Amino acid sequence: MPTLAASLSAHLAERLCQPEAQPDPGGELVLYWMRGSLRADENPALDAAAELAEALGVPLLVYQGLDERHPHSCDRHHAFILEGARDVARELEARGVRHVLHVTRPGHRQPALRKLASRSAVVVTERVPVPPLVEWTARLRAAIEAPVVEVDAACIVPLSLVERLPARAFGFRKATEQLRRERLTAPWPASDARPRRFEGELPFEPVELERTDLYDLIGACEIDHSVGPVPGERGGSVAGSARWEAFRDQGLRSYDRTRNEALLDGVSRLSAYLHHGMVSPLRVAREAAAADSRGATKWLDELLVWREIAWAWCHHRDGCVESYDALPEWARATLEEHRGDLRAPRTSEQLARGRTGDALWDAAQAALLMRGELHNNVRMTWGKQLLPWSATPEIALRRLIDLNHRYALDGRDPASYGGLLWCLGLFDRPFVPDVPIFGSLRPRDTEIHARRLDPATYRARVARPGAARPLRVAVIGGGVAGLTAARTLADAGHDALVFDKGRGPGGRISTRRAEPFAFDHGAQYFTARDARFRRWVEAWMEAGVVQRWTGRIVAIDKPLADGAAQVEKSDTERLVGAPGMNAIARHLAEDLDVRSGVRVAGLERSGDVWSLTDEHGAAVGEFDALVCSLPAEQAAELLAPVHAGLAGQAAGVPMKPTIAVLLGFEARLELDFDGAFVNTGPLSWIARNSSKPGRPRHEAWILHAGPELSMERWDADREETVDLLIAELARVTGVALPPIAHRDLHRWRYALSDKALDPKAGGGCLADDAAGLALCGDWCAGGRVEGAFLSGQAAAARLLRQVARLA
Ligand code: FAD
Repeated sequence: MPTLAASLSAHLAERLCQPEAQPDPGGELVLYWMRGSLRADENPALDAAAELAEALGVPLLVYQGLDERHPHSCDRHHAFILEGARDVARELEARGVRHVLHVTRPGHRQPALRKLASRSAVVVTERVPVPPLVEWTARLRAAIEAPVVEVDAACIVPLSLVERLPARAFGFRKATEQLRRERLTAPWPASDARPRRFEGELPFEPVELERTDLYDLIGACEIDHSVGPVPGERGGSVAGSARWEAFRDQGLRSYDRTRNEALLDGVSRLSAYLHHGMVSPLRVAREAAAADSRGATKWLDELLVWREIAWAWCHHRDGCVESYDALPEWARATLEEHRGDLRAPRTSEQLARGRTGDALWDAAQAALLMRGELHNNVRMTWGKQLLPWSATPEIALRRLIDLNHRYALDGRDPASYGGLLWCLGLFDRPFVPDVPIFGSLRPRDTEIHARRLDPATYRARVARPGAARPLRVAVIGGGVAGLTAARTLADAGHDALVFDKGRGPGGRISTRRAEPFAFDHGAQYFTARDARFRRWVEAWMEAGVVQRWTGRIVAIDKPLADGAAQVEKSDTERLVGAPGMNAIARHLAEDLDVRSGVRVAGLERSGDVWSLTDEHGAAVGEFDALVCSLPAEQAAELLAPVHAGLAGQAAGVPMKPTIAVLLGFEARLELDFDGAFVNTGPLSWIARNSSKPGRPRHEAWILHAGPELSMERWDADREETVDLLIAELARVTGVALPPIAHRDLHRWRYALSDKALDPKAGGGCLADDAAGLALCGDWCAGGRVEGAFLSGQAAAARLLRQVARLA
């Protein structure tokens, strides 16, 4: 049987990375797994798949998948890719080729690609030598009979013709010059292959792109909703072509003079479209070469040398591009010498939110956060600065990759790795003299850069939310959910005001002090299982706001004999705010506008404006949008007059009360544990609060009554309830209690929602997009602190998606 390369035209065969592969004769189709070149025109992978299908006499199917498990998946990347999917589906339809899209989300997580691939004669995909695609490709290859072949559809000089791992740009430029010249000006041959259209059964339900609201689809995916779509930045080949043509006709000629000026529109801003292959690099290179100007020559050097050296480097390293070892030896050696130098680390949260205190760097990060892009010249300074702000160079590298890939629309590309690792020496040479931390790496200082780029002017230019004006949003409720929604909106450039009826923010994560004791009388601890929450929690741990509670936690199923408990509760990681649970709320509220002591009692919507009044009927303010983050029953009551539908949904979520008793003892209780789930009698939980990190050592205990007793004694005499629960403490622990120095009681009317809305069904919040209204809270996302956080993000995301929808 002939090899696949033998069945292809020469201009396609040279782009095949596995030329010796042979098709599976039993396969019923050729499958093009489209992932890196979302276009029908000048697409070598598509053309190769079409030629192979025709040669084998089987139909062609184009499969595109969008997987939640792709690292850094967020609303922003999903929106751009889905918009691209819509364009390419139309283009393929016009050519008679069937395109199907599978978007993983709850209810749609079947192994669609593997099932289709296992019926194929050959699977064609683009060579994209970065994580996780290299690994995903290898896994698919191992799982099926048919070959999975990769086609270079991204570079002018085909990757397989670059013989060595490139080290420096000048060497690469020279070594590939001839190959480039031969291909740069030749028109891409139009494909005349007309394979049959695949009409067979699909093992999944494809997304109907023309009839689906893409933003609703995104909301249903379990991805990072804190990074919203960039309003006005549409993905797809239509927008990509328009961007290219505008630059080709107006900007290319002067590129050599304007490219380093971050305050001018002097660059192509094409990288996101190139990253997804929404414009053909073959086409733009050819048209730029035809323009024949100094600007075009400089731009082509960026496109053909700096972009392609990065691709070739990733290709030769077979996607192993995130490890510290990938840096050149001299760079690692100099960084090693300076490992012990004094640094001023910033937390990953300060970095992600652009709150480091360095005006230029923060403005650059704001550009990434709000606009999803960063001017290349500023990006170099931005990237270098992570070295002195991270405890080790390895951490700096991880942060570089994370920040770039999460926020930048062009992130996750081989060219990104080239640029990011350049900050740590890749493709560069040693510089003299040695400087602290950087050693012989080329330094780039934000202060020096700020002398030629005024941070305030730059910030005013790039830190824009993309809407005609920032949204003015009222967030009612300053618990974890409300604060999280507010800071997500604020980080995206909107004005969020938080109103809370309490004395300070926090809601049910609260701490009460009664010298010398301290009590967390609401949430006791929390867990962080979801990666989207975990990321922030780790940053709070870096900042010391959150610590592990390593106390021994047990279950008491029957009264103990002498304080010795036998039943361990699992070794779940239990986390607490430090020095009290409310430290988390204080931290979340740090740079927000929080108005405490305001009970919102009335809502009115007139036209596009929400008006809020307080309990005295006084006006609180007028807003474009509203986030209501109250416990379900309170939300239902407040919303009933203005939105019966959402109020009704909230009213259907029951919440249970908890009576908490706070006890300060004069001596330590002789118990061999620090917290217990109590499954006998009216108590549900007891905990030695003083065993949590950062608390005063004075013996402080919290007792929680179960919901039945809490309900029964809701209006009963407080002192009698305290006495009753103290007696229960003695009974279930089996020890004599020391003298009590402090006693108090707190009633939580809406403590826990055992039957929270299914977060998978509701996307973590309830909302009416047209009304600019979102409801969130622990009850929308599985209960608990983690659920409240994710729900707050989901509510903010609903508003951010609506802004993008209307842009
Ligand atoms: P809340 O924290 O209730 O925030 C709502 C806010 O709205 C409050 O600050 C309130 O003052 C304000 N508000 C209400 N009405 C108005 C109004 N009209 N105008 C203005 N403001 C208003 N979770 C865990 O993960 N682990 C635990 O161990 C745990 N234990 C718990 C024990 C107890 C006793 C309680 C009460 C809760 C516990 N939780 C625990 C749950 C956790 O505290 C909550 O899930 C989380 O704090 C809820 O946050 P939220 O923002 O959704 O709501």
